[in-house]
Amino acid sequence: MTMTPQPGIMDINLYQSGASKIEGVSEVIKLSSNENPHGPSKRALDAFRQAAGELHLYPSTDHSALRHAIGDVQGLDPERITCGVGSDEIISFLCYAYAGPGDEVLHTEHGFSMYRISALAAGASPVAAPETERRTDVDKLLAAVTERTKLVFVANPNNPTGTMIDETEVARLADGLPEGCLLVLDGAYAEFVEGFDAGQAVIDARDNVFMTRTFSKAYGLGGLRIGYGYGPKEIIDTLNRVRGPFNLSVPALKAAEMAMRDTGYLDWCRAENVRMRDWMTAQLHAIGVKVDPSEANFILARFDDQAQAEAIDAHLKTKGLIVRLVAGYNLPDCIRITVGTEEACKQVVAAIKEAL
Ligand SMILES: *Cc1c(COP(=O)(O)O)cnc(C)c1O
Repeated sequence: MTMTPQPGIMDINLYQSGASKIEGVSEVIKLSSNENPHGPSKRALDAFRQAAGELHLYPSTDHSALRHAIGDVQGLDPERITCGVGSDEIISFLCYAYAGPGDEVLHTEHGFSMYRISALAAGASPVAAPETERRTDVDKLLAAVTERTKLVFVANPNNPTGTMIDETEVARLADGLPEGCLLVLDGAYAEFVEGFDAGQAVIDARDNVFMTRTFSKAYGLGGLRIGYGYGPKEIIDTLNRVRGPFNLSVPALKAAEMAMRDTGYLDWCRAENVRMRDWMTAQLHAIGVKVDPSEANFILARFDDQAQAEAIDAHLKTKGLIVRLVAGYNLPDCIRITVGTEEACKQVVAAIKEAL
């Protein structure tokens, strides 16, 4: 028997996750997946452990307690939130619900690879619009929109560049889209930007903008797989039809709820990230390495060429330091480095100095 997958499926290249091991090295420091080096809130961990007593029970289907926690803390209407197995799942719900064969899903040149993967899985065609100097370019995105464009994904701040565009630019993008085309703001790194609403004001003033958020980065819960989406009620109602009723487990729901309510811990993580990110950026600038100002929990270091980037990556590996080459994101001369603990950042900087 020969089974033929739906068109587009075999065009998907498997997602490349950040490496976590080095052959022959037992102690490694992983700075390749933008994880929180301090882990999750202690209160979230306690909630996770307590959930062990409830594992025989099915989880809530409507995620009411988590949606209300998010609503309380972020000032969002809980009725306009839906939760997913990471924001990856929200991205795929959006593609399944709104894009199919003949439709286009637009993203930025160096954009997150899940946009392309989810578009292809839904049978739609991914389209990349150029960025300018590793920054989202609203004019170039608008120029790439056609009557077939259904979704436009923009991560703000962006990964792997760390750059972002301001609210005026986001609003200009939203207002330039044709009827029947949804702007999706991927806020995976929004928590790292002090005072940033992740696009909430732009969303609340329109019916064609949506945001995805995650507990995987600033909240330190990447291993649990929890994300959410916020936007027009009509879109939430649509996504909830595509979503599996028990998509989030009891421990995931309980831990996320406590992580959201522990705002003190998030504030501390944000401050610590800024401190070490600025330190690492200044250190690299001082030795002539180019680094764009990052708003996220990683920096993108630019070297002379691909060979130099690869040589530095290889040297870091010998020290047990795992960072991320981003040739797959069309940035072959760059290395993305997650902001780690103070000790980890010091080791990375020392090793790059040595290699140069
Ligand atoms: C890490 C990341 C995500 C988060 O994915 P989860 O499925 O929530 O873990 C989403 N978008 C971007 C741009 C990311 O870098």
